[in-house]
Amino acid sequence: MFSGKTEELIRRVRRAQIARQRTEIFKPAIDTRYSEDEVVSHDESALRSTAVASASQIILLAADCDVVGVDEAQFFGDDLVGVVRQLAESGKRVIVAGLDQDYLGEPFEPMPQIMAIAEYVTKLHAICVVCGNPANHSQRLVAGEGRVLLGAKEAYEPRCRDCFDLALSRGDVHAESADTTTEEAASEKAPAPASETSPVPSGND
Ligand code: ZN
Repeated sequence: MFSGKTEELIRRVRRAQIARQRTEIFKPAIDTRYSEDEVVSHDESALRSTAVASASQIILLAADCDVVGVDEAQFFGDDLVGVVRQLAESGKRVIVAGLDQDYLGEPFEPMPQIMAIAEYVTKLHAICVVCGNPANHSQRLVAGEGRVLLGAKEAYEPRCRDCFDLALSRGDVHAESADTTTEEAASEKAPAPASETSPVPSGND
């Protein structure tokens, strides 16, 4: 959540716009942080988006798009997998940003499935606020249950694997993982992968 995945999504969609492609960004209606109709990232860069109640709505609304962006994909549920595949098979470039782990560090569906069918996967990492290493977890700092705890970005801090595990073992956590990553070796980074699937390997980026 501090890894810059929304910024990366915005950057890619902006480049498509410069190329005069028709674009649209969709986000789950559940995520109403900051703005009702803009995808807003932590650095305040923003791009207009459309909030939808379910993944299936994207199919109809994206009919005229060349490039379809999806933000906060982890909140769409499993239906998003079929939707993304259908869009890609119809010739559209689909760029998906989301958290790949839940607050316990477990794979956060549907991101694992989408990463598997994507042509390209980019894992982005924040910086651990404890030790400065690349962070691939988000530590939940407030009490809360369930995978979805929206709101306040102050409720989370980026942590690396070691610092996250240490806090878990001490039990002082409300463990939430954050956006991210898969590499088992503690290497770079953080949260959020941006998965991209496109019918043709385009050299856009
Ligand atoms: Zn650390």
